[in-house]
Formats: sequence, structure tokens, C-alpha cells
Amino acid sequence: MPVTSRALRLALYCLLILAGAILAGGWAMRQAKQHALEESARRGPEQLSLYANSLYTVIERYRALPAVLALDPELSDALAHPMTPQVQALLNRKLERINGAAQSSTLELLDSTGLAVAASNWNTSNSYVGHNYAFRPYFSQTRSQGTGSFYAVGVTSGIPGYFMSSAVQGADGRFLGAMVVKLEFPELEREWSHGSDTLLVSDNRDIVFIANQPGWRYRHLRELNDRDRSAISVTRQYDKQPLTLMTSQTLHSFGDNSYMSRVNGPQGQADYLWGSQPLNIEGWTLHLLRRPAIPAEDSRNAALAAIGLWLTLVFLGLFLLQRWRLARLRQRNRAELEQLVEARTRDLRTAQDGLVQSAKLAALGQMSAALAHEINQPLTAQRMQLATLRLLLDHGRIDDAYKALEPLEQMLTRMAALTGHLKTYARQSPSGLREKLDLANVVDQSLQLLEPRLKDEQIDLRVNLQRPAWVRGDAIRLEQVLINLLRNALDAMGDKPRKHLEIRIEADQQLWRLTVTDSGGGIADEYLGKIFDPFFTTKPVGDGLGLGLAVSYAIVHEIGGRLTACNHVDGAQFTLTLPIAQES
Ligand code: ADP
Repeated sequence: MPVTSRALRLALYCLLILAGAILAGGWAMRQAKQHALEESARRGPEQLSLYANSLYTVIERYRALPAVLALDPELSDALAHPMTPQVQALLNRKLERINGAAQSSTLELLDSTGLAVAASNWNTSNSYVGHNYAFRPYFSQTRSQGTGSFYAVGVTSGIPGYFMSSAVQGADGRFLGAMVVKLEFPELEREWSHGSDTLLVSDNRDIVFIANQPGWRYRHLRELNDRDRSAISVTRQYDKQPLTLMTSQTLHSFGDNSYMSRVNGPQGQADYLWGSQPLNIEGWTLHLLRRPAIPAEDSRNAALAAIGLWLTLVFLGLFLLQRWRLARLRQRNRAELEQLVEARTRDLRTAQDGLVQSAKLAALGQMSAALAHEINQPLTAQRMQLATLRLLLDHGRIDDAYKALEPLEQMLTRMAALTGHLKTYARQSPSGLREKLDLANVVDQSLQLLEPRLKDEQIDLRVNLQRPAWVRGDAIRLEQVLINLLRNALDAMGDKPRKHLEIRIEADQQLWRLTVTDSGGGIADEYLGKIFDPFFTTKPVGDGLGLGLAVSYAIVHEIGGRLTACNHVDGAQFTLTLPIAQES
């Protein structure tokens, strides 16, 4: 594969792994965020209940106050009769005292027309005294039902508060007026503003009137219709306060009354986890808004864990892929190698068969030519001898005829020797030429056969054999080889005064080396390359056929060995090597 395309592929893989890591990290961060949000949303109702309770506690603490005060005969007496400045001053001081003791915001006494006749804030610039509050719903409620309550912005003071009132009745049960307590919530708002959460209380028209943070009050959470607007203006509930719409969009719902919302709040657009809980007062609702704050560490850890997991999976995958590829490659290589070995073996065998075949054919050709030459001569001579013999017999020269038979006989003997040699060579070994045998034994046998001659010629024989020297071959044919070598050595030493013959067998790595060394003067340099040729002989006619070494060479080669000759000090040395036979 070209280098550039490999580099491109590598870069692509790296990019994929990186993209996977980024995706995994991003996904984990989103999951962590979602989890944190859900966790936070789950805690919402519990916190809302706590805040609602604190609001209930403040209101409940004062709920009974107007009813108790309304029972005061001093108040009913004062309302039953025309009000004198003295009485009014007394009432004012009384209400001021009680208000201080009860720690309410304001106490006021309205007469049957809704006019404030006395108030705890009588001596402040915002005094209620002299103002008529008949337009406030709590007054009409008190007149008709005995009690009333209403949240409103004070028309006189401009301070918002929750008004709770109770009817003051005469002894005959006549409605004389109303005792009103006003609660303001700055304390509560201060208390609620400690945390980072935004807490809002909205009325039954979804108008926020309590908020622990500046800017949120007097915002309506839904559009106001005409009825709402006219009711607000009649009751002057929010008096001169401008009401503005606060829009929001739900992004995700976590269940009842819990949302992820995008709010166009006083600080601009922001996302909040928004939980709300209806209150048991006047259709009010408590809202808890929280900025979704996910600890950076948590999401980072989640991302790192996810990336780590992703990389582990990737590397595990790569590791397994590599192992699988290697195993496949090894399997393929092995199969290819086996096929190759098989093919080569086949080729070699074919080549070997071919070689053997051609070598045999070549040998056959050589042999036939030589044989024809060798046999032709004696045959021609014999024909001539026979013609001579016939003439002699025709003339009755019997004695001469007998004499003429002699050379004929000699020639036949020579031809018999020739074919004898060839028969040795052509002989087939019954065990396929490959029996396991001890080469030292072959030497023993040959020496035994030649013993008479060795003795006659007084040969100084030295035998040094390492035994057993296991080889594979044909004992008879190897014996033939050895006899040939020994005979040649004896022939060479025939006229030498020193007749020294040495036979050795020694191991040389994987081979047995057999050497036959004589003191017969050696082989002339120009003949060294020819002595293994068929019919090469330096011996006188009748003594040598020149086939001994040629046949020996062929026998040794056929069983996988080698036969070589060289000169040595004062004679020739023939070396036969054969592979050491393995135990199997
Ligand atoms: P032959 O013995 O019939 O001549 P060989 O093939 O056995 O046929 O030998 C061929 C020739 O090799 C011999 O004629 C001789 O010249 C030479 N030769 C063989 N062995 C020896 C030897 N030990 N010393 C010297 N010459 C040798």
C-alpha cells in the first residue's frame, strides 16, 4: 500500500477516535447535567414546603389578632357612639400599644362605612386615620361574612401588605365596623434572600407580590384580561404600581409543577429550574427559581470517565482486531508455506527422477559404445582364428588346430570377465539397496576374501576401524567396491619393496569416512581425472578391464555416498564417504 494512503488512513482513524472521544465526553457531560438537574428538581418540592411553612407561620401568628381585638368592648363602645377626639386619641394610643406588643405592621379600626377612625400609625405621615377603605374587598367581606382578608399595596402608605379583618359587633349583633391588622413581609423577604434561590409568591391572578430579590415584584406571569384589570383597579390592589408581564418558555418538564424554563426576568433572559406549589391562602402560589448550577468538577469527571471508557473500548477493539489479523496471517502463511514445500518437494523429486534417468541413459550410451568397442575387437579376432582353425582342420593339422584354440579360449575368458563386471553392476539388491549395515564388517569380509593374496605378497597391513559404523546400503555391492579398491592397491604395490596398506574408518560430522591408503607410487597427475571412466586402465592387456573404479563409483553414488582419489606421500589414497545411518 502506498505510504500516503496509509498515512491518510491512520489520520482518519485518529480523527474517528478523537471524534468518538469528544462525542462520549459531550454525551457524558450532558448526562451529568441532566442528572444534576433532575436531582435538583427532585429536591424542589421539599424546599418549597419549607418556604411555604415559614409564610404560613407568619400569617397564622396574626390571624386571630383582629378577632380577639374586635371583642374589646372599648372598641365596640367607641364605634356605637359618635366619635369624639378624646375617644379617638385613646383608641389611637391603644392600637399603637397593642401593635408594638404584637409586632404586627399596622392595626386600624374602621367604622361601619369603612372609614378609619383609629390606627396604630396615627401620628405618622402615612396615618390611615380619616381615610375610607370601603373599596377594599376585606371590608365588604367582613361586613357580609364577619372576617376578611386581602393582599394589597397600601393606598396611603404605598407599602404592600396582607390585611386581615374581623367584624366589630354591637351587643345586638349589629355590624359596627372592622378591626384590621396589616402584615408586611420585609422580614420574610429578607430571610428568604439569604440563599441564591429566587422565591416568589403570586396571587390568584399570577401577579407576583412577594419576591426575595429586587425587580421581580409586580410582574404577572400570564396575560391579564379585562376582568382582571377592572377588578384590580376597583380594589386598587396594586394601586399605582405598574404591572409588567414576565414571559417564560418551558424547555423541559420534570413532572408536576417542575420545569426547566427560559425566563425573560429582570436581569434579562436566563434559564431556571422552576418549581411551584399552590398555597392554602387566597389562591396564592409559591415559586422557587433556581439557576441550574452543575458543579464543573462533576461534569468534567463524567466527561473524563466517558472518554477513558471510550478509549479503553477502542484499544481493546484494536487489540482484538490485531490478534485476529495476526492469527489469520499466521494461518495463511503456514498454509502457503506447506503448499510451497510440497510444490518444491514435487519439483525436486521430478528433477531428481529426470537426472537419474538421464544419468542412466548417458551411462548406458557410454557403456554400449565402450562395450561395442571392447567386444568387437575380440570378435573380429575370433572370426579370423576360427577361419584359421577351419583351414588347419581341412589340412588335417590337428596339433596346430589345438594351438590355435588357445587364443580363442583366452579371448572368451576376457569377454566372460567383462560381462561378470557388468553383472555386478546390474545386480539388483533384494532389500532395495538400503539395509542398515556396519561398514567395519564390510571391511572385515573383504579382507577375509583377499587374505591369501595379502599373505603371499607380504603386505604390511594396518587396520584402524571405528565400529560400529552404521550406514545404509547393500553389503554385497559395498564389498565389491572395497575389493576393487584393495585389489587396485595390491596391483599398484606389486613391484614395490615397501608394501604398506592402511584402512581406516572414522566419523566426520554426519559422515563415515573410509580411507584406503597404499604405497604403490600413486596415480599420474594426467590420469587422476580419468580413473573413474569406464574402460580406463593403465594395466597391460589381459590384466585390467578399466571397469572396477567406474562400477564402484556408480555403486557408491547410488547409495548416496562419494568416492574420490588423491595422491599421498608414496602412494594413492581412495576415500569413500557415506552418511551415518540414523537410529530410526
Ligand atoms: P583396472 O584395475 O581394470 O585397470 P580400474 O578401474 O580398477 O581398472 O582402475 C583404473 C586405473 O586406475 C588403473 O588401471 C590404474 O591405472 C589406476 N589405479 C587404480 N587404483 C590405483 C592405485 N591404488 N594406485 C595407482 N593407480 C591406481
